[in-house]
Amino acid sequence: MEKRELVILGAGPAGLSAAIYGRRAGLDVLLLEKGMPGGQINITDEIENWPGTIHSTGSELGMSFRKHAEHFKAEFRDCTVKGIEIRNGSKIVVTDKGEIEAEAIILATGAAFRKLGCPGEAEFTGAGVSYCAVCDAAFFQDEVVAVIGGGNVAVEEGGYLTKFASKVYIVHRRDEFRADKAAIEQALANPKIVPVWNSVVESIEGNGVVEKLVLKNVKTGEISDLPVAGCFVFIGTEPIVGYLGEPNSLVKQNKAGWIITNDRMETSVEGIFAAGDIRDKFLRQVVTAAGDGATAAMAADAYITQQLHLRSVLMEPEHVYALISSSIDQNQVTLQVEAEKYGKEAGKKIVFVDGYRNARAVEKIGVTKLPTLVELKKGQIVKTAEAKDIETVKAFVA
Ligand SMILES: Cc1cc2nc3c(=O)[nH]c(=O)nc-3n(C[C@H](O)[C@H](O)[C@H](O)COP(=O)(O)OP(=O)(O)OC[C@H]3O[C@@H](n4cnc5c(N)ncnc54)[C@H](O)[C@@H]3O)c2cc1C
Repeated sequence: MEKRELVILGAGPAGLSAAIYGRRAGLDVLLLEKGMPGGQINITDEIENWPGTIHSTGSELGMSFRKHAEHFKAEFRDCTVKGIEIRNGSKIVVTDKGEIEAEAIILATGAAFRKLGCPGEAEFTGAGVSYCAVCDAAFFQDEVVAVIGGGNVAVEEGGYLTKFASKVYIVHRRDEFRADKAAIEQALANPKIVPVWNSVVESIEGNGVVEKLVLKNVKTGEISDLPVAGCFVFIGTEPIVGYLGEPNSLVKQNKAGWIITNDRMETSVEGIFAAGDIRDKFLRQVVTAAGDGATAAMAADAYITQQLHLRSVLMEPEHVYALISSSIDQNQVTLQVEAEKYGKEAGKKIVFVDGYRNARAVEKIGVTKLPTLVELKKGQIVKTAEAKDIETVKAFVA
């Protein structure tokens, strides 16, 4: 099977930033992308909050991210990730173009628009139902369209649609928008925007293309028709995590499916990191995705280096005595210094492992308490003892 050091799933801002940092750290980096590298920014009209660039179109920024990663010789593969499996301790990425064994994986497949789930939505997607104003607004020149939703994206994209459409209804289940004050004021001041409060979409109907929405008033229960040529759905996003199996089946996710990481972008599975919009986080933007990607790549680099080091000093030799202790506990640091001195004087080879920094790796061989002494033969633990003091160390290796 193909073996790679760092496999990054998704080439959006998070994945591409991870690739740049990974390559510059000297890792062998493979990026798997099912669509156009650049991710969601490819469908963004204008970006004005990427530091250093006052204004750019999304596709220009996406292209420059891609070129940057290519400059550092990250390898791209056009494929769809279907699953991730742990087989005999190895991490396997399953794609529609074969399987790859990875030392470390970064999940950076981003988020997707949430669907309404009503009759007609799937049928008319691409025939009047859209999730991207920038992509499709121009098809609705002088037409009447509806936006569904009440958050920032709904309100802002509604404003964008008025550049093309003659009228934009914003259908919202509540009686006020949930967007920023400035965005709301701007939308309500726009004569082409007409809010439709307390309403949900029951169905989308038409003949080949969208002709009307059937709405239900959530307060009165009244059903009414809203004739429109287009329906833009902006009711939030959800993480793209389907390839991980059922929720919580591989890496830990919150109730809504967003992946939980620590500040090193480590997931609940050792060697699997997550970056960008896919994470459970406060702000989903290009700048935060790029920061996550950089952090994940550096954490993956540290992980791979530690793994290789631990494999060479602990698992591969015929016979090893090791003291696994914590580098942040002064007593344990002192014990290590004494043990090093004793090893040299007595001609005993003792391997020292920082069990604090390599907590997950040492847990894998069964060490959960520090400091611990272990004796390994061909990677298998044959003896362990609590390293109480230097006398215990001497007795253990005698
Ligand atoms: C309309 C719109 C406007 C926006 N405007 C702004 C803005 O002005 N400023 C800003 O900072 N942010 C903006 N954002 C948000 C920003 O685009 C995202 O926060 C950012 O793109 C997240 O990056 P990411 O790498 O985490 O995910 P994404 O950009 O979503 O990239 C994920 C990549 O993974 C790929 N992928 C998914 N599943 C698979 C699979 N199974 N196999 C292989 N590949 C897969 C996807 O094709 C995609 O390329 C906007 C988003 C949208 C939708």
